[in-house]
Amino acid sequence: MAELTEKVRAFARERDWEQFHTPKNLAMALAGEVGELLAELQWLTPEQSATVMTDPDLGPRVRAEIGDVTIYLVRLADVLGIDLVEAATDKLAEAGRRYTVEAARGSADKINTKI
Ligand SMILES: [Mg+2]
Repeated sequence: MAELTEKVRAFARERDWEQFHTPKNLAMALAGEVGELLAELQWLTPEQSATVMTDPDLGPRVRAEIGDVTIYLVRLADVLGIDLVEAATDKLAEAGRRYTVEAARGSADKINTKI
């Protein structure tokens, strides 16, 4: 993750794009890329979406959008000084406390406690 963060940081620095990489702009760019990912999946049946990566046209497009989303997420976390792996690890631990295996196994029910 650190290597990718540095590559994205260098990419921006070399182009003098750091001036545009405010948290607001990066969050908006991230949302835009998530939208592009959704656009690739939106009209597929659940079954088609489950096998999308075997589609020779759609698979690479989904992969590319996942790449875009990752780049903006990594850059946003970097600009905000957030360790992405640590933040995700913390959230996973919180989710584990909220959705215990005993309470949540096999159930998609929402547990009404915000985390
Ligand atoms: Mg894109």
